[in-house]
Amino acid sequence: MIYETNSPEETFAIAKRLGEQAQPGTVYTLTGDLGVGKTVFAQGLASGLGIEEAINSPTFTIVQVYDEGRLPFYHFDVYRIGDIEEMEEIGYEDYFYGDGVCLVEWAELIEELLPGKRVELLIEKDLEKGFDYRRITLQEVTE
Ligand code: ADP
Ligand code: MG
Repeated sequence: MIYETNSPEETFAIAKRLGEQAQPGTVYTLTGDLGVGKTVFAQGLASGLGIEEAINSPTFTIVQVYDEGRLPFYHFDVYRIGDIEEMEEIGYEDYFYGDGVCLVEWAELIEELLPGKRVELLIEKDLEKGFDYRRITLQEVTE
């Protein structure tokens, strides 16, 4: 499925709708360049889960846990991960294979740890279509 947006608000709204429909145990992976809108997407998804707390990129921790929504929300940003072992140390499997909803920014950096069943999201710019244009490709994967 492909979505096209022309503002952060539109990207937020698409993610919010997904969050409203999200099922327990779903892992969303996010791929795309710096500044493309991964965190905007995460904020929308959280909002759809009923989380009102501010969602920022978890800069100093790999995962940020939000418990106030309809389902637990685990927001990963693995951009600064040095070694895959850091994921083991935080016990990532409890999150990926638990009953909450996971969203992983920079998922390609931990590809070998991703669950076979996941929802992949790719966000891309196309400057010919304007500075705020984003193409969001959603693909359900079962490996
Ligand atoms: P990332 O997490 O991918 O590094 P952020 O979500 O932190 O990126 O930042 C995305 C930036 O791009 C924000 O400043 C946002 O306002 C801007 N932006 C412009 N157009 C869009 C769009 N269509 N969708 C999402 N973000 C957009
Ligand atoms: Mg980010």
